[in-house]
Amino acid sequence: MYKIVLGICAFLMVCSKPLQAQDQILDGIGETAMIARYIFNGDTRDWSRNNHHAKVEGGQARFIDDARFKKVIALSGGSYVTLPSETLSDLESISISAWVNIKSKEDGQRLFAFGKDANKQFSAAPTGLKGQDGFHALFTAGSSKPASSTAIELNKWVHVVVVVDITSKTVTTYLDNKVVAEVSGIPQELDAVLGQTNTLYIGKSLIGGDPTLNALVHDFRIYRVPLTRRQVAGIYFGANKSQEGAVNVGKPEENLPQFGKEESQLYHKYLVKVSDITVETEVGNLPRLPSHVPAKYSNGLKLDKVRVIWPAPTDNSSVLEPGKYTISGKIAGSDFVPKATVIVKADKKVTPKAKLAAFPLSAVTLEADRHQHDTKFIENRDKFIQGLAKTDPNSFLYMFRHAFGQKQPEGAKPLGVWDSQNTKLRGHATGHYLTAIAQAYASSGYDKNLQANFAGKMDQLVNTLYELSRLSGTPKVQGGEAVADPTKVPMGPGKTEYDSDLTDEGIRTDYWNWGKGYISAYPPDQFIMLEQGAKYGGQKNQVWAPYYTLHKILAGLMDVYEVSGNKKALDVAVGMSEWVHARLAALPQDTLIKMWNTYIAGEYGGMNESMARLFFLTKNEKFLKTAQLFDNIKMFYGDASHSHGLARNVDTFRGLHANQHIPQIVGSIEMYAVSQNPDYYFIAENFWHRTVSDYMYSIGGVAGARNPANAECFIAQPATIYENGFSQGGQNETCATYNMLKLTSSLFMFDQKAEYMDYYERGLYNHILASVAKDSPANTYHVPIRPGSIKQFGNPNMTGFTCCNGTAIESNTKLQNSIYFKSLDNSTLYVNLFIPSTLNWEEKGIRVVQTTSFPKEDHTKLRIEGNGKFDLQVRVPGWAKKGFVVKINGKKQKIKATPGSYAKISRTWKNGDVLEITMPFEFHLDYVMDQPNIASLFYGPVLLAAQETEARKEWRQVTFDAKDLSKNIKGNPETLEFTIDGVQFKPFYESYGRHSVYLDVRLK
Ligand SMILES: [Zn+2]
Repeated sequence: MYKIVLGICAFLMVCSKPLQAQDQILDGIGETAMIARYIFNGDTRDWSRNNHHAKVEGGQARFIDDARFKKVIALSGGSYVTLPSETLSDLESISISAWVNIKSKEDGQRLFAFGKDANKQFSAAPTGLKGQDGFHALFTAGSSKPASSTAIELNKWVHVVVVVDITSKTVTTYLDNKVVAEVSGIPQELDAVLGQTNTLYIGKSLIGGDPTLNALVHDFRIYRVPLTRRQVAGIYFGANKSQEGAVNVGKPEENLPQFGKEESQLYHKYLVKVSDITVETEVGNLPRLPSHVPAKYSNGLKLDKVRVIWPAPTDNSSVLEPGKYTISGKIAGSDFVPKATVIVKADKKVTPKAKLAAFPLSAVTLEADRHQHDTKFIENRDKFIQGLAKTDPNSFLYMFRHAFGQKQPEGAKPLGVWDSQNTKLRGHATGHYLTAIAQAYASSGYDKNLQANFAGKMDQLVNTLYELSRLSGTPKVQGGEAVADPTKVPMGPGKTEYDSDLTDEGIRTDYWNWGKGYISAYPPDQFIMLEQGAKYGGQKNQVWAPYYTLHKILAGLMDVYEVSGNKKALDVAVGMSEWVHARLAALPQDTLIKMWNTYIAGEYGGMNESMARLFFLTKNEKFLKTAQLFDNIKMFYGDASHSHGLARNVDTFRGLHANQHIPQIVGSIEMYAVSQNPDYYFIAENFWHRTVSDYMYSIGGVAGARNPANAECFIAQPATIYENGFSQGGQNETCATYNMLKLTSSLFMFDQKAEYMDYYERGLYNHILASVAKDSPANTYHVPIRPGSIKQFGNPNMTGFTCCNGTAIESNTKLQNSIYFKSLDNSTLYVNLFIPSTLNWEEKGIRVVQTTSFPKEDHTKLRIEGNGKFDLQVRVPGWAKKGFVVKINGKKQKIKATPGSYAKISRTWKNGDVLEITMPFEFHLDYVMDQPNIASLFYGPVLLAAQETEARKEWRQVTFDAKDLSKNIKGNPETLEFTIDGVQFKPFYESYGRHSVYLDVRLK
């Protein structure tokens, strides 16, 4: 299993607009794609956030002044650079970009050499291999030919790029932005060349006797994607503008298959009629237009709707007066122009009150399926619960103790990746961990030993954080000096400015000056520097999202408090929130808007959610005010005068970073819950509808933009996934779906629309369940959805966390949390998901035992234990178009059950009553809104992925019978394994090899 050490997750702020040059380090390539970057302007640090710091060996490191790049590394006389061997893990393809100025034409020199030996290596020889002139790039497991061209000129800066593209099985080399050689027939997998342990050199060969490099080197970068021509150009021209590179704009690379106008577009060639619609809205609010409208098809097709793409204005000027107007929509690959008549009414829309509540995690237990096999839910839960049980809380407390200058307990080991000592995000994993341990405790009632284990961990974590937080702002010795006021925190002792230096030599540990209540895994400087305009980056005058990290910690403390009642946990959260309030309340609004719009540095997770929740828990109005200080004014309201924004259903988030903004929306619905300000409700509701209609891929993931050139962003324009999405690697960040599910169940508490839980089911089965490794709790960062891609799983031992490794320990310790909800008055039970489980509904003295092998069968059984009168609301999934049969004690019931609704069954239930539900599955295609030929195959709720035997660039073509998809599908619904034309299809959540989630579908 590869260790995951990936790039950035949730930390790109505005992707759609040109960024300030000093903020931009991307050259039009999403930062996730970058594995390591060595600028060599005085040190061998990795400038990416992955901490793959290099070192010079074989001689002294020499950095010299250079007319073009200011300061560069000079390699000569046997010195070379080594990179940590784990640098090359978790990649599908690889690209190298570097500036080199070669001083000797001796053959055998290597710009870089990665691998084991002469037989297994990825290397570049700029001045010839032994006895073979020219520039050669070699990616071989023994027999592949090098990509060869004439030798690189001496004594001149040359930009060298080597691209290994596993999907097209080619190696391409560039010199100064021109392709100079391309070779095919390389090994089919990166693994064949770069196994788990590699020797990684810059300036040295893997073959004994070869000379070391005699050259100047500048800005050596490693990417995990095959760079495209446009991206190579971006880096090349970027370097000529400024060190920080070019701006991230421009049309996306056209690297997807194009379909001619005359080509049939899936079902659309059978369209005979598309209905016009009428919608109502209120003055100021853009109408909510349905993504699908009624349609008629010829040829006996059993479809009744078609996807429409409506215009998406960037303001609400069309609805400022009562009246009526008409909008025209588009249907991809069809000439139909559906019309929507919009009636703008003078009324004000009323927002709903909360009607439902979730059950505590401890009230619902996952059970084995009807055949006593563990379900995927149990398997994944157990991987995480067992993994968490083995963790050492001292690892998660390590950097907190380090910040406060405290001794580490014997044997304590620090975490790696984003929590390593010099990483300015350290402490973020501790926040996720607090939540995960709290949930694991609540969810493991079936095993008292486990529960005791987690109870012990919660106490240990909280006690230490409590003790540390009490140190802040109080004298070290009695009568000593201290600064209790958070707004008066001075600079560190002996320092002339605030800084984010976390090295042993540079870190300040004068906690008595930090203001009362302060807690974090670093001193308060990052918070203060952000107020003063600090930018994101690795230098000591730069920061990395202090409020993002704090949000995790505060949420974790409240989670522990809520499951254990540990008052100390709440006290720590209150103390730090008072600190935050004191600082932020003192700032002018302009400063706040500027902070929350600072690239990466100002990302704040769901601070608004946590502050709203703390207000709910403490009833202290101060925290409600603190929450409001985190309003994202621009996205929520359009501008400072609240002209429009999401509150008026204007899509203000196109092109923005997905996982940065979804938690802010989760915060908005939480703000509505505690404040009843209707705008917060509209913001969340409008955002949900627009995201799910216009930005969602079939697995339930969002983002994955090709334009803007960042997989973590929402596409530049709504409903253009094909035109602007499917970024290289086709990435759907797992955190984003974690947050979407959270938002979805929160909205459902207010409005019980089945489409919410339809989405929940889709994201849960096809992304969250699909994001965990087969035999360990290792998990995905991004899930790739391009043809023939493969999931990469990381963090199997829970020792080094990216953001998605953090949300994974949360997701997998609460898998049961949305199966059932209850009404606040305990008169109604909602059955949302068909997962074998037992519910203990304490207030009613009722137990509900759900027995099923769903989705390996299409029916479920609910046995009621106990007596009582209540309504059952059972979800009739939107995909259940072949019927929905309900029986009570064997007798068929006459109830209304439209797909995409809830079926209500009112009854005085008797002990032993059995409710049986059957909802036959059928195969259906979920097509991309702006390119219907590209579609995913579903069976009921389950996405079926084609199992690929090798990497591929082409979309897998599959031909179906238009009237009956099942005609050429063979297989067994009880295992959910099928074959189509000899190709195996399996649930995506059981796909661990190469897969195709989307198909190029033809109908006959
Ligand atoms: Zn993430």
